[in-house]
Amino acid sequence: MQAANVTLGIPNFNTMNTQDYIELEQQYGADNYHPLNVVITKGEGVWVWDIEGKKYLDFLSAYSALNQGHCHPKILQAMIKQAQEITLTSRAFRNDQLGRFYQKLSQISGLPKVLPMNSGAEAVETAIKAIRKWAYKVKGIPENQAEIIVCSNNFSGRTISLISFSTEEQYQDGFGPLTTGFKVIPFGDAQALEKAITPNTAAFLVEPIQGEGGIIVPPHGFLKQAEQICRRHNVLLVFDEIQTGLGRTGKMFAHQYEDVQPDGITVGKALSGGFYPISAFISTEEVMGVFQPGDHGSTFGGNPLAAAIGIAALDVIISEELPEKALKLGEYFIEELQLIASSYIKEVRGKGLLIGMELYPEAGGARRFCKALAKEGLLAKETRDNVIRFAPPLVISQDEINWALEKIERVLTTTC
Ligand SMILES: *Cc1c(COP(=O)(O)O)cnc(C)c1O
Repeated sequence: MQAANVTLGIPNFNTMNTQDYIELEQQYGADNYHPLNVVITKGEGVWVWDIEGKKYLDFLSAYSALNQGHCHPKILQAMIKQAQEITLTSRAFRNDQLGRFYQKLSQISGLPKVLPMNSGAEAVETAIKAIRKWAYKVKGIPENQAEIIVCSNNFSGRTISLISFSTEEQYQDGFGPLTTGFKVIPFGDAQALEKAITPNTAAFLVEPIQGEGGIIVPPHGFLKQAEQICRRHNVLLVFDEIQTGLGRTGKMFAHQYEDVQPDGITVGKALSGGFYPISAFISTEEVMGVFQPGDHGSTFGGNPLAAAIGIAALDVIISEELPEKALKLGEYFIEELQLIASSYIKEVRGKGLLIGMELYPEAGGARRFCKALAKEGLLAKETRDNVIRFAPPLVISQDEINWALEKIERVLTTTC
């Protein structure tokens, strides 16, 4: 049996080691990621295990999709229960889960209308379609002239239209022709926003804190000023809260730090607690009102399995008070990180448990520190070249943070 496998080139899965898994992926997979060479096979709460049995604290949380921790038992139960009833109806018919999911999202966001999609990128695409249609049908901008203002260093996903307004050269390189209709201003600059607005401006689309851009927190007051400017010019204010939302930054949504009322929000990532791709665009009656039957859709968007998982994932965030936990533990964690005496560290910044440690370029890049942290049993990932992101599941305890602090201090003070 084994001999036959060898001649066919099929690996024996029972005896595969880390290198075998890496080679198998490399042989058949596209090379569009640069992962650390840890092959994970199990997760529970803040911990994951690799195939060799080594245990790690997960400090990335799948880019904040795991705010509730790995394999949360309540979400798992909801998923199993729903999967035994019905998983997909398509929106050609109604299902008995979707309405309650809408209601929950509306209650936590304060916005009345929800449009469910799957990936985060699709939620932002949906926001852009809504914004444009609102521009023509409600604001009265001439056909095909609508402009959306975004910020440099943004991240909204990888579709053609979303990379069209990225300021990362690599994200666009080789993918043209790009989508037009976007204008870029510096992040955090309210004056630049006001200057960039023309009669054809439909919306300002912005992350309240830039996640992929390196955990960049704008000056306090920027979001409020942006709101006032948008109101003055009849421009929609839409927040991409896919990474910052659902408790990550110490509030349910990061824009609540400035008591701002947006016209729309995109959510994704932790909306399923890591079980399933679920995203949504949430907005006012006026904005969502532009969609008529047939204007937009998705085969899997709003399916009963996703809705049931989404309800459970939101229930966990609320009942376990994850925003409050992130606020309290985040403050402690940032303060302790700032006390680490390492000549490599330029700055530690963030809100709640979305924390970036920026290293000086002389430190030789964040990646080698992430590799050293993995050896110590702590999985973190570099964002941009010089920032290490610390974003553990929000179910983390203070003891676990202390455990991590010890490892982080050791790596930052002994790596040469
Ligand atoms: C991750 C992310 C997206 C894209 O989500 P995908 O599910 O990867 O498509 C969009 N916006 C922000 C702010 C993100 O962090």
